[in-house]
Amino acid sequence: MTVRELREKYLRFFESKGHQRFPAASLVPYDVTGRLDESLLFTGAGMIQFKPFFRGVARPDHLRLITCQPCVRTGDIDEIGDDTHLSFFEMLGNFSFGDYFKAQAIAFSWEFLTDKQWLGLDPRRLSFSIFEDDEEAYNEWAFWLTPAGLEPASRIVRLGEESNYWPANAFSAGPPGPCGPNSEMFYWTSKEEPPGNDYTQEDWVRDEAAGKWVEIWNDVFIQYEWQGHLKDPSNSKLGYEKDGMPELPFKSIDTGMGLDRTAIVLGGHKSIYEIDVFQPIFAKIRGLRGAGVPPAGSREERAERIVADHLRTASFCIADGILPGNTGRGYVLRRLIRRATLQGQRVLGFNEPFLHIVYEGLVESMGDFYTSLIDQREMIVETLRNEETLFRRTLSNGLRLLAEQMDALIAQRKSSYSGTAAFQLYDTYGFPLEITQEILSESGFTLNVEAYEAALAEAQIRSRKAQGDTSAYGGVTAAEELTADDAPGFTTFLGYSGVDAEA
Ligand code: ATP
Ligand code: MG
Ligand code: MG
Ligand code: MG
Repeated sequence: MTVRELREKYLRFFESKGHQRFPAASLVPYDVTGRLDESLLFTGAGMIQFKPFFRGVARPDHLRLITCQPCVRTGDIDEIGDDTHLSFFEMLGNFSFGDYFKAQAIAFSWEFLTDKQWLGLDPRRLSFSIFEDDEEAYNEWAFWLTPAGLEPASRIVRLGEESNYWPANAFSAGPPGPCGPNSEMFYWTSKEEPPGNDYTQEDWVRDEAAGKWVEIWNDVFIQYEWQGHLKDPSNSKLGYEKDGMPELPFKSIDTGMGLDRTAIVLGGHKSIYEIDVFQPIFAKIRGLRGAGVPPAGSREERAERIVADHLRTASFCIADGILPGNTGRGYVLRRLIRRATLQGQRVLGFNEPFLHIVYEGLVESMGDFYTSLIDQREMIVETLRNEETLFRRTLSNGLRLLAEQMDALIAQRKSSYSGTAAFQLYDTYGFPLEITQEILSESGFTLNVEAYEAALAEAQIRSRKAQGDTSAYGGVTAAEELTADDAPGFTTFLGYSGVDAEA
């Protein structure tokens, strides 16, 4: 089944259950009332645009909706190259706003997953996590498992807030908003026989950690409004202090099925990069290089994957009006293009701008559903080409300097690179810290990140003083920059007014 077919199948299933298709939100997180969600950098889930519907402050025309929502999670960027996480992915979601609740949502999920007419997955290969003592969710899954010949206790695990309470699970410690316990659905991807009826929660935890169970879908039972404030307004990474959790006016359902993730399972693939949408992109890269499929586990394979993932994310960002810049979303976009350029230049041997050519592979694979990739082609191609050209101009000088510095350190039998030097590379050559770190670690060097941050903070203070508080770094503080690196698309912009201007 292709990604396109799976998308359509999901939407048709839920249409047959009284749902209406609703347009996806922009990657810039505007909600259904047109308000920008200031607590987020990107739309990272299908429910983001619907917060006003969950809160009852706006009313949908229809109480059952479905979407296919493009999502960006910058917090997952570090996981790029693993088998299941992308920085951009599509999330399929069915939503109920005060209409059906837990029992019906679970029944829909079970039917879509197992019914022969739909996905027809073997129930023995499925398992379900619930939030601690959510007995109702337990009983609903048990209701379906028992007649399938499966002992409920062998397939349902009880987990804590970090994985089974939205949005704590995806947005490490916030941000505040509609929330509730959730139930995740997992598929057994191991070559081994699926477990029997004597399987325990301990077994499950071990096997999940070993990658044998892959999460494909998440049902969230939205009931409360999580209220909170930042623990430390100058460092949003520390997350939120909980102020209260009043009940919402009605109970709602929010689900998210990873389209790309589920396509791995249906295709029997090992990695998310084996699904069909990536193949035209890889074909373009290989055609340009005049090279074949790189060996499994090689540097070239990893580089191809980073290029494919980042190019896709970057292109969808540009299509939604984000431009490269030094703050917020623009900076995330810039980093994606720079990381992809670097992989292309250092590992794949592209000495000229290439991303805008590889872009045609993306148009081929996704342009039929996402027509903005075609309508906005010129803008996207030009932005990619300009940004890559700009970066390449300084890249070679910076790389040469870094290589010389590493040689000097080797001669002195030192293996630690100074944070101040890393800051200079960032300042002069536009090397994001992670790129410097990546090059250093490839050659076995360590880096003092604290010294880097201190140098960055110092430079910001200096430039604020010099310019009456408009920093040369566009107002990105070290904390905010790290947030953009580390948090799953969420950040706060206290004291930084670039968001609206940019959006
Ligand atoms: P995981 O635990 O695997 O990181 P999650 O619990 O953070 O996933 P949710 O917030 O529940 O993910 O999102 C709903 C669905 O979206 C997941 O069940 C998964 O199928 C998919 N998904 C989440 N993150 C990614 C990603 N980085 N790349 C591809 N698909 C993803
Ligand atoms: Mg999860
Ligand atoms: Mg996650
Ligand atoms: Mg989940």
